[in-house]
Amino acid sequence: MIDVAGLNVRYKEFHALQDVSFRVGRGESFGLVGESGSGKSTVLRAIMGLAASDAARMEIGGVAVGHSRNTSFCRRVQMVFQDPYGSIHPRHPVDRILSEPLSIHKIPDAEARILQSLKDVGLGPGFRFRFPHQLSGGQRQRVAIARALITEPEVLLLDEPTSALDVSVQSEILNLLDGLRRERGLSYVMVSHNLAVVAHMCSRLAVMNHGRIVEEMTRDDLNQGKAAEAYTRELIAASKGYRPAGVSACAPA
Ligand code: ADP
Ligand code: MG
Repeated sequence: MIDVAGLNVRYKEFHALQDVSFRVGRGESFGLVGESGSGKSTVLRAIMGLAASDAARMEIGGVAVGHSRNTSFCRRVQMVFQDPYGSIHPRHPVDRILSEPLSIHKIPDAEARILQSLKDVGLGPGFRFRFPHQLSGGQRQRVAIARALITEPEVLLLDEPTSALDVSVQSEILNLLDGLRRERGLSYVMVSHNLAVVAHMCSRLAVMNHGRIVEEMTRDDLNQGKAAEAYTRELIAASKGYRPAGVSACAPA
């Protein structure tokens, strides 16, 4: 579903991504882990066209992504950001936040779709006319997920979607995302600095360091600590003991 090869991003003289390559199957959830500043968000931003990049190949569902992302790309690929406070308009009611993508993509039956998308993320119809400041952090992130899904995309790019939330809310949102992926056959690329979250959510992952992928591994490799690279072993050792409530690193696929 996603095929990226030889992806490079430069911010002026700084080489933020160097020759990044990975593939994600349809319905698969692929993790990107690494320390802060290793380039995880830049990978997602490059796919979305939010960071200028060059790549030997960048394909979504077998279709090459052009230099400017067209409306069909934007309908198929959506991103959810870390901070729901920043990613949804603070002064627009939920109804408007959810109806905008529908009008951009000329999708009919707005009212029914808005109510259904609220239901899909566990929010009742009463949330439709609330403003973001009248929502909790978790409810706001549910609205951001509803907005991402309302155009029925095939790919979701998730950038630390729960790290701004209270620990108790994190696993609710992760379980929601996991259920939506299974029901709809969505493909995810999920960025996290939290290895337990990635072990819970992703069947495969890539470890990033200084703008490069140093190692790709399966969830089983991660759970068994089977890392080929010293950097990955350090990352695993550093993550021991930090695990959000309700998220088990040994959760089955
Ligand atoms: P991560 O998500 O892994 O924490 P990022 O992808 O955000 O890392 O950043 C990778 C590197 O690129 C960092 O060193 C960061 O400072 C740098 N960077 C990110 N965005 C920009 C930008 N717009 N201009 C210059 N440097 C940037
Ligand atoms: Mg980041």
